[in-house]
Amino acid sequence: MTIERRFDIPLIASLALKEKQIQQNYRPIIAVHKWFARRPGTLFRGLLLSEFSDKKLVDSYFSSHDFAGRRVADPFMGGGTPLIEANRVGCDVIGFDINPMATWIVRDEIEHLDHDLYRQQAQLLVKDLEEKVGDLYRTDCPKTGDKDLPVKYFLWVKTKSCEACSGPVDLFPGYMVAENKRHPEHVLVCSQCGELNEVRNLNEPHQCTSCAAELVVNGPAKRNRCACPHCGTVSKYPIESEGPLKHRLFAIEYANPARKGQFKGRLFKKPDAKDLARVAEAERRWEQLAKTFVPREEILPGDESDRLHRWGYTQYDELFNSR
Ligand SMILES: [Zn+2]
Ligand SMILES: [Zn+2]
Repeated sequence: MTIERRFDIPLIASLALKEKQIQQNYRPIIAVHKWFARRPGTLFRGLLLSEFSDKKLVDSYFSSHDFAGRRVADPFMGGGTPLIEANRVGCDVIGFDINPMATWIVRDEIEHLDHDLYRQQAQLLVKDLEEKVGDLYRTDCPKTGDKDLPVKYFLWVKTKSCEACSGPVDLFPGYMVAENKRHPEHVLVCSQCGELNEVRNLNEPHQCTSCAAELVVNGPAKRNRCACPHCGTVSKYPIESEGPLKHRLFAIEYANPARKGQFKGRLFKKPDAKDLARVAEAERRWEQLAKTFVPREEILPGDESDRLHRWGYTQYDELFNSR
């Protein structure tokens, strides 16, 4: 058993650590499902090469291999990482699992992929999505006036009505939109007017450039309680009998590909009237849609689903944002 002599724990441990930090770089080529417990592929590649290759693992790991004729079986394959790795180094593979979903996932992940056909179908899908919903994913740049730029992220905050004055309460746990890591400064949302402000030093956050209110980092929502900004009454949330909390669009991150390099860091904005009209339009289209792919079933009790019940959700379709 060369597996016991050639396996190199420090080498594999360092590779597996890197892999677990950026898992998307090492997924099966056809990732049909985010399997519940995806083990590091590096580990199984290391085990396979220790057994089948004559070289030291540190040399064989980064070479290509073809172990045609070697057969690897996994009687409890789950998400199939060992088989996928064995398949990558040219082994024949056999897998079993009592769970039919595991069988479907592994079979499709190992299936031969026609790259040209795949690219063609992917382009059709992109074109179709662009035609149907592309207009809902555009925004105008307030800095340059450029129109219809692609949106990267929509940022939402949970909201509820105040128990005392029924005014709207945004349940912000904090007002930080972005740290100064991939952006030159911190970005804070103003608690009073919702404007986004760039802040160099979080200890001296200065005043909002739009309404002159003092900017703060910590939000009012904490441990399922939130004070109303209008009357000060503290309300509890969530309340199961009131149903799910609503969401309000409070910021947008977008891209400006034509001016790449002109701005340092990321592009954020407070949604303008056009953006809010797009949200309303998304809601209108969502109402009209025959929701073929959205599960409408009741959420049954269970370890994980009880949490959804506490947040007022009773049906799975309530978990979907209109957009
Ligand atoms: Zn303000
Ligand atoms: Zn109030």
